Amino acid sequence: MSDRPKSHGRLSIRPAARPRDLLEDQPALANAWCARVITLFPEAFPGVLGHSLTGRALEEGLWRLETIHLRAFGVGRHRNVDDTPAGGGAGMVLRADVLGAALDRAAEGVPSEHARWPVICLSPRGRRFDQAMARRLSQTEGITLICGRFEGVDERVLEEYAVEEVSLGDFVLSGGEIAAQAVIDATVRLMPGVLGNAASVEEESHSAGLLEHPQYTRPAEWRGRRIPDVLMSGHHGEIARWRRAQAEALTRARRPDLWAAYRAARDDTEA
Ligand code: SAH
Repeated sequence: MSDRPKSHGRLSIRPAARPRDLLEDQPALANAWCARVITLFPEAFPGVLGHSLTGRALEEGLWRLETIHLRAFGVGRHRNVDDTPAGGGAGMVLRADVLGAALDRAAEGVPSEHARWPVICLSPRGRRFDQAMARRLSQTEGITLICGRFEGVDERVLEEYAVEEVSLGDFVLSGGEIAAQAVIDATVRLMPGVLGNAASVEEESHSAGLLEHPQYTRPAEWRGRRIPDVLMSGHHGEIARWRRAQAEALTRARRPDLWAAYRAARDDTEA
C-alpha cells in the first residue's frame, strides 16, 4: 500500500511519532490487518485509536488504517455527496452513486469474499456489535467501514454491495465515526501482540459470558475502605473462587440477559 503513489481520496494513517520511511520498510505492514474507513471526516482518524495500546500497535505496523474521503467522490462543482430523501421528509441521504464509487475504491486490492474482508455500514438499524463480532472481525484480513452521516445511506448501495449493518447500541449518534473507532478498537485489541498481557483478554468482561469481577489496587486502605481480605490473602484458589462469585452476582443483578445465556451454556456443557 505504502509504496504505491497515494490514490485519490485515500490516505494511510499512522501516528506521526516515527519517521514515515522507517515504517514503510517494515514487512509486517503489507500483511497487517487493515481498516478502510469511508468517511466525510478523515481528519477524525486515527482519533483516540492513535493513543495507548492501539496507537502503539498502529505505529508498530500490527494493523493499518486507511481513510477514504467520501467528498472526493462527490458530484458536481461542489462535490455533493447527499441529496433529499425520495418521498420527502427531513434531512439528507448519502447518494448511492457517490458511496458506490467510494466502495469501489475501498475494494481495490482486497479479497471480494465478505468472510475474509467484511464490508460494514455503521447504523443504528444494524446488528448489535458485541465481543463475538469483534473476535470474528479480528480474524479477518481487514474490514471496510462506512461512516454514515445525516439520515443515513441510500438503501440500494447496501443491497448492491451486500453490506452488513452494525450498530453500537440502541441510541442515535450524529455520524458513524465514533462507532467506527469503537469497532476498530475492540477488534484490534484482540490481535496478538496488541495487549501486553494476552491473558487479560481471556478474563475480562464478555469473554466468558460474565461481567468482570471488581478490581482493586494500592493503597490497601482508602478513605476507610479496605481491599477485600481475600485478595490480600495470597491464596490463589480462594481468590479465583471469590472473583467468579462476584462476576456471577454482578452479571445476575445487572444483565439478566447475559445471565440467562450463561446459565443455558453451562447447563449444556454439564448435560
Ligand atoms: N436516520 C437514521 C439515523 C442516522 S444517524 C436512523 O434513524 O436509523 C447518522 C449516522 O450515524 C448513521 O448513518 C450511522 O452511520 C451513525 N450512527 C448513528 N447511530 C449509530 C449507532 N447506534 N451505531 C452505529 N452507528 C450509528
